[in-house]
Amino acid sequence: MSLLLEETAKTGLEALGLRVARETLDTACQMAAAQGWSYSHFLGYLLEAEMSQRSRRAVELSLQLAKLPYLKLLKDFDYSAQPGVDPRLIEELSTLRFIAEGRNLLFLGPPGVGKTHLAIGLAVLACQQGQRAYFTSAMELSRRLSGALAQNRLRQEMMKLVSPKVLLIDEVGHVCLDATSASLLFQVICLRYDKNQPIPLTSNKAFSDWGEVFAGDAVMASAALDRLLHRSTVLNIRGESYRLREKRQAGLSLGELALSGKMSGEMLRGKEVN
Ligand code: ADP
Ligand code: MG
Repeated sequence: MSLLLEETAKTGLEALGLRVARETLDTACQMAAAQGWSYSHFLGYLLEAEMSQRSRRAVELSLQLAKLPYLKLLKDFDYSAQPGVDPRLIEELSTLRFIAEGRNLLFLGPPGVGKTHLAIGLAVLACQQGQRAYFTSAMELSRRLSGALAQNRLRQEMMKLVSPKVLLIDEVGHVCLDATSASLLFQVICLRYDKNQPIPLTSNKAFSDWGEVFAGDAVMASAALDRLLHRSTVLNIRGESYRLREKRQAGLSLGELALSGKMSGEMLRGKEVN
């Protein structure tokens, strides 16, 4: 390559926005010369460096935009601790077919059984596969929409909740909504239903109690459930709280230690009921 063309290769990559390929160019040239690469192998090497960096950045950005409160991965879910969850069902959900099908996911059950963990794990997968996801809680959603309504910008705020491919609504029913908030949540459910955009949601309330959640409006609750359940997978998790299980197990092992004489009574009293 003439010196002039070498310079063009560098400035050209830069100008085309192929920053990583530009940074990799010198190394790639040295390796190509040393190992006798073909031209197409050389080009492939540069492009792979660029593309893998881009896809890493895209996933990072999707995860930032998803506003997940914390990161939970499906691979860290301990099925032996939660026999109420069928690993085959989670495997099926991991294919993310539910997104293409506009299928809602309803994770129901008492606190601590892993509802949010599983929903976040699926949202992470969606982000990794280039789908836009967004996390909110029912309370946060209603606070934001009520604020937007008061400031006459409901449409814009509503679009933010309708446009992501996956909208995760956590803790539906933890707080009973007032009439305005209930109607705003109902609108989100309707708009997403009409656009075939799935909602994975978590709730500690049985469907029969959803009237209370929707400000005592049983008709609105049943219309919301009608849409949510039309295309849906319901996961009713009925096990023990994972947090309590861990505490109980910690208690047991402390007890066992005490029995085996390895721990003094004082140590035990100090640690047992944290
Ligand atoms: P929920 O939303 O049902 O109240 P979470 O998903 O918030 O429960 O779970 C509470 C905590 O316990 C989280 O830190 C979560 O990661 C963990 N957890 C729950 N179930 C499991 C499980 N089966 N395996 C591993 N961690 C779990
Ligand atoms: Mg939760």
